[in-house]
Amino acid sequence: MQKYGLKLLIVSVIAISLLACNTFGEKSLKALIVTGQSNPYHDWKISSPLLKQFLEETGLFKVDTAINLADSNVPFEPNFAAYNVVVLDYEGKDWPEKTQKVFVDYVKSGGGVVVYHAADNAFPQWKEYNEIIGLGGWGNRDEKTGPMVRWRDGKMVLDNTPGKAGTHPPAHDFLIVNRNPEHPITKGLPEKWMHAKDEIYSKLRGPAENLTILATAYCDPNVKSKWGSGTGEHEPVLFTINYGKGRIVHNTLGHANKPPFTAIENVDFIVTFQRGAEWAATGNVTQKVSADFPTATQTSRRQFNIQSQEVKN
Ligand code: ZN
Repeated sequence: MQKYGLKLLIVSVIAISLLACNTFGEKSLKALIVTGQSNPYHDWKISSPLLKQFLEETGLFKVDTAINLADSNVPFEPNFAAYNVVVLDYEGKDWPEKTQKVFVDYVKSGGGVVVYHAADNAFPQWKEYNEIIGLGGWGNRDEKTGPMVRWRDGKMVLDNTPGKAGTHPPAHDFLIVNRNPEHPITKGLPEKWMHAKDEIYSKLRGPAENLTILATAYCDPNVKSKWGSGTGEHEPVLFTINYGKGRIVHNTLGHANKPPFTAIENVDFIVTFQRGAEWAATGNVTQKVSADFPTATQTSRRQFNIQSQEVKN
């Protein structure tokens, strides 16, 4: 009887373990980082390996990388449909028309997307891309691309004032405000937290359809340089878009170039990136908020050995 009981216990433990693996999706999600080109102010060979590391650290994702080099003659044709989430760390030449269509179909049919920092500079002429990312900047985007999105008097406001899209004040420490504490990505994060030296992407413009703001940063007009000044607005820094059945999370933070300007090391960037990727892939977030998350008065960064790395497909 005792022996039978032990067997039953062992079988039960195995069954529960298998169930737990399934339920919590240990490395069962597949992510694809699309990269290979960036503008001169960013280095994808620094950002993409770190983004891969951040995804892997969650224990949820198996990560592949798809590289489209500027001088490549090989047609860029990733199989987006094989992934739960596609992370965009790319600003460069247009993808082949067929690949554009495959990407749009992937999102429409329920694929997840993470738009990381300067990926919202990419493809200004591609209508569906602008719809998917919600808002974009630079690349001669202007009022024809769509409105700016502001947070005023406790709610999101569309601002149709004409003008060029995309600017930012010089990089500095700033406060981020959680505007949607019930959303799976921002649930459990503080009401406000400090973010160390980064760019506040401002005056982004786009269709902004089915867009939900999760977090904003006040862009102080007293922070200025010849390149750009604070807009005096609460600029959206983290937001979601629904496109067809697809879930997109757009994180404008996390600038990455050679040290010392490596805002990608901000813990709040890492955490919102990781949580955003899980939400885009599944619609839920199972990750706990890490103990080193910044507070309303204190920034928090992790140290990485940051260098431009050889990246392979
Ligand atoms: Zn940047």
